[in-house]
Amino acid sequence: MKKHNFGAGPSILPQVVIDQAALALKNFNNMDLSILEISHRNKNFIAVLEKAQNLALELAGLKDKGYYALFLQGGASTQFLMAPYNFLPIGGTAGYIDTGTWSSAAIKEAKKLGNVNVLASSKENAYKNIPKNVAIPEGLSYVHVTSNNTIYGTQFKEFPKVNCPLLVDTSSDMFSHVVDYSQFDLIYAGAQKNIGASGTTLVLVKQDALGKSGRDIPSMMDYQLQIAKDSLYNTPSVFSIYVSMLNLEWLQNDMGGLKGIEKVNFAKADLLYNELDTNKNFVPYVDKADRSIMNVTFNLADESLKERFDKLCSEAGIWALSGHRSVGGYRASLYNALPLESVQVLVDVMKAL
Ligand SMILES: *Cc1c(COP(=O)(O)O)cnc(C)c1O
Repeated sequence: MKKHNFGAGPSILPQVVIDQAALALKNFNNMDLSILEISHRNKNFIAVLEKAQNLALELAGLKDKGYYALFLQGGASTQFLMAPYNFLPIGGTAGYIDTGTWSSAAIKEAKKLGNVNVLASSKENAYKNIPKNVAIPEGLSYVHVTSNNTIYGTQFKEFPKVNCPLLVDTSSDMFSHVVDYSQFDLIYAGAQKNIGASGTTLVLVKQDALGKSGRDIPSMMDYQLQIAKDSLYNTPSVFSIYVSMLNLEWLQNDMGGLKGIEKVNFAKADLLYNELDTNKNFVPYVDKADRSIMNVTFNLADESLKERFDKLCSEAGIWALSGHRSVGGYRASLYNALPLESVQVLVDVMKAL
């Protein structure tokens, strides 16, 4: 039987997506060739890419709103550098809100290109909360936020209002619930958490916000060039983009888009947080108001229960529940493809402890 996969990424995908991808590995579109063997310029793949781009824009509610969808390589981590190359003029200052490991990594890269003003940080509080009412000074080139903090388990419920471009790393909660994505000029997410397979990164960028950094941007880092070449400046990750297309199709057609999936995701998160709040053997890690619906972090009240809890989990087919190696404890990732039944299995194990 398939495991109940709570892994943080690469992570669970719907079985229909895995089955379809497996078929395409053997014989893609009845071409008598594997998808691994065809050119990225073949019309069968171009159709996949266009479909994936369209689905991404549609799901984000950004179709015909001046945004472009790119599928790039180098993971979200490359976007940490690509964002300032394209949005931070020489001599300009970028504002960052530091809500965890990934925000810190984004700040580190931006500092290589210019001035960074860390507008707020929850570091002193072990990243257990999202800073509120952050003052946004005048004259910033952009503000960057991390919508969901995969490692610590916090999530922005509302984003700061800014008078400059707002850039967001949504790697671990992209398409998990209804969000007004039009408040952002740049949205990026490594595919391996909620979009598809590792190897590609979805980037949604507002076209008229580009071309203002005045920098001589290296080709691979240049959104305008990537747009002009339609994500095909170099060889893209053909298979990962195909898996993303299948998964976005599943989200749109089988789950009813973001409105449909958020019902399931809220139900999963409620079920697990209710158990954490009432079961004395467990202690949730972050502030209640800032809890993530995607990555639920918690500890045991008594470490001596660890062996028994881990054994019960393993016997129930629960997979990858360990917290990130930097924080320890436990983390249940409840990405779109994880069914409510898997959360129920975990809750039953918690009750049995
Ligand atoms: C996983 C993750 C990253 C890193 O993604 P890569 O694709 O491995 O570079 C960045 N930001 C967030 C919020 C993440 O969860």
